[in-house]
Amino acid sequence: MNFYDIQIVLQEVPGQISICFSITGCNLHCKGCHSPHLWKKELGKKLTTDKYLEVIHKYKGFATCVLFMGGEWHQKVLIEYLEIAKKMGYETCLYTGLSKDKLSSEILTHLTWLKFGAWIEELGGLNSPITNQKFIDIKQNKILNHLFKI
Ligand code: SF4
Repeated sequence: MNFYDIQIVLQEVPGQISICFSITGCNLHCKGCHSPHLWKKELGKKLTTDKYLEVIHKYKGFATCVLFMGGEWHQKVLIEYLEIAKKMGYETCLYTGLSKDKLSSEILTHLTWLKFGAWIEELGGLNSPITNQKFIDIKQNKILNHLFKI
């Protein structure tokens, strides 16, 4: 699993300070994709366990959520990393362009929140009233898109 960058983000998961790992290798190739640099699996650097642990330990007590932008194509490692984050007390979130039913239940059980749905330019993102994308609370199976509209 390679990452393109790691950022601290405030808007992607409402109410959370998130450590955001952008994972390369997205093969959905949505038209108008805002992140085509994430398409090639070989780009970026390997997210080793050491690197991952270093980052999430560094921000423990400051950040509250571990967020993966993609990475579901590395299911085993993704689950392992989500488990570690949860054990450390982080909330967890995944942004994916897939539909929810294309994700395994093993991934879903390790997530607090999930954003799913491909990028369709004419429908817009989470703050659009006609978007196809959804941001949900997994346990409550509740759509929270309204939190993105100010
Ligand atoms: S899912 Fe996201 S990163 Fe992947 S192609 Fe679509 S818009 Fe780009």
